[in-house]
Order: sequence, then C-alpha cells, then structure tokens
Amino acid sequence: MREMPDMAVDIVARPSDALADGPSEPAGSTGPTPAEGPAASAPAAVPAGAISVEDLNVYYGGFLAVRDVSLQIRPHAVTAMIGPSGCGKSTFLRTLNRLHEVIPGARVEGAVLLDGTSVYDSAVDPVQLRRVVGMVFQRPNPFPTMSIYDNVVAGLRLTGRHAKSELDGIVERSLRRAALWGEVKDKLRQNGMSLSGGQQQRLCIARALAVDPEVILMDEPCSALDPIATLKIEELIGELRASVTIVIVTHNMQQASRVSDQTAFFTMGDDRAGYLVEIGDTIQIFTNPREQLTEDYVSGRFG
Ligand code: ADP
Repeated sequence: MREMPDMAVDIVARPSDALADGPSEPAGSTGPTPAEGPAASAPAAVPAGAISVEDLNVYYGGFLAVRDVSLQIRPHAVTAMIGPSGCGKSTFLRTLNRLHEVIPGARVEGAVLLDGTSVYDSAVDPVQLRRVVGMVFQRPNPFPTMSIYDNVVAGLRLTGRHAKSELDGIVERSLRRAALWGEVKDKLRQNGMSLSGGQQQRLCIARALAVDPEVILMDEPCSALDPIATLKIEELIGELRASVTIVIVTHNMQQASRVSDQTAFFTMGDDRAGYLVEIGDTIQIFTNPREQLTEDYVSGRFG
C-alpha cells in the first residue's frame, strides 16, 4: 500500500513494499530504459488499492453473519456488492477497514490483504487504516458543528499541524475531486449542514479524499438522495475510479450496472449466514451469470 503524506506512522511495517508508490508513480518510471528494450522489461507498476479477501467469516457474538468469503477487489475499479437485505453486504464492507471492531462482539476469521499486507496485522493501527481505506455512509454525516472547510480537513488535522496554505490547497483539491468546489468555494466558512443532502454527501467524499486514500468504501451512498443528487454521485464515482479503488454496497441493481466494473452477488443460507454466490465483470453478472441464484436475483425472480 502506498505511503500517505503527513502520516506520522505508516500503518504497517512493510518489508517488501513492492506497491508502495502506486498510482502516483509517473507512467513508465519503473519500466525499462530505452536502452534496456522490451526484453528487459520490469513488471508493470500495479496501482495501489488492491484488496484480497480470503476465507472470511464474520460473527456478531455467536451469530455467523458472513460465511467463508474469498474474493479479489481490483485496484482503481468500482466493485459493487449486491444482494437481498440482511445478506451481510454492509457487514462485509466494514471488515475491509476494520470498522466492525467498533461493534461489541463483532469479530472476523480469515484474511483481508491490502496490496498484499494483512489489515489485521497487529502492527496496523485501525485509525490509520481507516484513512487509507475511507468510508462513506448511507446518510451524509458532516461534522455538525464544523464549517465546510473544517469538515474537509478534519481527518488531516488529527495527523498533526499543517500550514494554512497547505490546508487551503488540500481543501480546494479535495472539493474539486468531489465535484463540489464550484458550488461551495464562496462559502467555505459556512456550516457543512447548510448544504443540500447531495452536497453533504459530496462533502463527506471530499473529507475522505483529503487524506489521500487508496480505497473508498461506500455503503449505499445514494439511498438518502434524490435522483439528481444520485446521478452526481454516480458521475463522481466514475471519475474517482481513475485514482481510487471503490467498493460500493447498493440495493439498486441499475446503479450497480451503471457505476461498477465488477459485481459481487451475495445471498444468505437457511441459517441466515450471508455468502458470496459469485463475482465477475458487471456485464457478465447482469447478462450471463454463472449461477442460477444470481440469474434469479438480477432478473427479479428472487423471493
Ligand atoms: P445487508 O447490508 O446485506 O443488509 P447487514 O450486513 O446489515 O446486511 O446484516 C447482516 C446480518 O447481520 C443480518 O442478519 C443482521 O441482522 C446482522 N447484523 C448486522 N449488524 C449487526 C449488529 N450490529 N449486531 C448484531 N447483528 C447484526
């Protein structure tokens, strides 16, 4: 995983750090020099933000909520999680940045690797991890007492002191990346709660972007928004995938088909444990699924 600027402590000690420079590496900088030619070519730089999940079980106390999930989340792509309510999509999402750990009794077995490094390693600080793997929730949740400006830099301020000029630059860059700058640049000192729901959600995305994440997890980010605000978030997801890995839980299959590159379909067994039925390119999942359960769900024949 890539180093974060201004991080006092890296989230893990990484012996090999093969992916450390990730997408900010200038194109070709690790490739061969002209003199070396193609025969001597080094492996292409892999963007940071690849997640590998292996044999994951998630429990709430004695209840097995998610059973035996293994899947790969491609870097710099959008992965959608779909499936019936209660099949464990949100639970699974929260395990990717250890957010389930704030729920008493919740625990996991198995592995989650970010760029090959276990996020459950004892050397990983979960607070730092949640900056590298940010989260956007169903309901926009700007910090209610803070201005738009302060909301964007809230996470950064936790990492130490920053010059005002640096913060100003990060605020503008993050708001531009979140497609919000034009709408708020003249009122950065106004309270974040003064914005519309859709703007608040983009503000929360700007807040996640300000700490330069590799991955953003989105848990039904449009479910509280009107269709126009939803469209803006979907367009934004399309733009962000160039620089960030996105994992989105959505109950809206049209949304999954519009915004995602790959789709994972979850369902649940008789014991109510959620499990992964299949994952594949979104077009394949929606037009030519391998499993009958997926076919039934995407064609609307599910229960
Ligand atoms: P989905 O996102 O697919 O709707 P969830 O991940 O919210 O599903 O829930 C999966 C299962 O875990 C459900 O049976 C739900 O009741 C249970 N669950 C979710 N959150 C908690 C919690 N905090 N404590 C106990 N059980 C929970």
